[in-house]
Amino acid sequence: MNILVLNCGSSSVKFQIIATDETRAAQNSDECLAKGLIERVGGLALISFEAAGRSCLKEDAPIRDYREAVKRIAQWLESPQSEIQGIRSLSDIHAVGHRVVHGGEKFKSSIVIDKDVENGIGDCMDLAPLHNPANLRGIRAVRDIFGATLPQIAVFDTAFHSTMPETSYLYPIPYHFYRRLKIRRYGFHGISHQYIAMRYQTLMGVSPHEVDIISLHLGNGSSVCAIKGGKSFDTSMGFTPLEGLVMGTRSGDIDPSIIEYISHKEGMSLTEIVAMLNRESGLLGISGITSDMRELLDEEEESHDRRAHLAIDIFCLRARRYIGAYLAEMGGAKAIVFTGGIGANSPQIRGRICAGLEPLGLTLDSGKNSAGSLGEERVISTPESRIQAYVIAANEELVIAREVFRLASAEKR
Ligand code: ADP
Repeated sequence: MNILVLNCGSSSVKFQIIATDETRAAQNSDECLAKGLIERVGGLALISFEAAGRSCLKEDAPIRDYREAVKRIAQWLESPQSEIQGIRSLSDIHAVGHRVVHGGEKFKSSIVIDKDVENGIGDCMDLAPLHNPANLRGIRAVRDIFGATLPQIAVFDTAFHSTMPETSYLYPIPYHFYRRLKIRRYGFHGISHQYIAMRYQTLMGVSPHEVDIISLHLGNGSSVCAIKGGKSFDTSMGFTPLEGLVMGTRSGDIDPSIIEYISHKEGMSLTEIVAMLNRESGLLGISGITSDMRELLDEEEESHDRRAHLAIDIFCLRARRYIGAYLAEMGGAKAIVFTGGIGANSPQIRGRICAGLEPLGLTLDSGKNSAGSLGEERVISTPESRIQAYVIAANEELVIAREVFRLASAEKR
């Protein structure tokens, strides 16, 4: 089955076409036939499409909205120049999977999209005002351009965390805020953490209930997930992705009283302060230079910039703090796994996060940590380490494709 996986972000559309079925999934031989990205939807967009091992297209063109973006993807898929293996017309796409950011309490697993589901995604709009509307526009655009009979499936970034117990997801504020406004911890990056759980299970040849790991997704956005018995038990992002670790431009955990204090002292509105915490804080806020970890590491090494060094140290300390907290919550873990742009690619950051964790049972092998190509899947702890450490590159698209296959083939039966 050829599956179009679509990720409509707040101003971009990413896609992959993945060929998968039961045999491929069992043999882990699912194949990415093509992928692409349209950035700056709503203006002069940057388009880059690539058919695996064949063609590649890069251009700037005005793309007004998500409908035009999906149309541009469809045109490319059908054009003879794209040369995508097995795809000649839109009828060679058998189902579409959408990464939907927020499923609220309504969607605890992936689901075939119909009118009710669309309304449900709309109902969660307040919880993800930038992302859920973009996801809905993507769903409608696919229906218009690929036809109403093509199965579309929603895979939610919050769903993996729906197994968190109340003790993990409730905030200790008056209970009626949960009852009336659904204020609770939802968690994000669920599809990425689910992939890590799935991949770890395959690599170790164990059953799901034996997957007791801590997954660290470290990228521009970062989160940690305590996975117990293959299920999310706790995670660092909360009501919104602002909670938890230090991120590229997000503060992560802070004392909420700071908000009132800044408002009072600086005359800033609540909206301005929340925007500052989301867009001007984190690595960027502390360093005053950049939100990009690779650039910060270069600054630290070349210019010995004090604040670049401080930003990285705080990032690593907070990650280590969550590892410690989750080890305590879970009563120990078998492994910790690093993923995301920083987690999979930076031996230095992995080393700095794990420094001093030896008494807790985790010893990195510095050779294995530094060896290997960028993002290469491998063990990076010593053979004696009681808790193992792994690098596993993120692959959210694969989880979405397999979910789509599962639901779309069940629909057919
Ligand atoms: P997003 O959360 O937007 O998907 P990514 O997972 O791609 O982001 O992560 C982007 C981050 O990964 C950036 O801070 C980038 O500097 C960092 N990164 C990528 N490669 C490396 C590397 N080799 N060393 C250190 N950081 C890296």
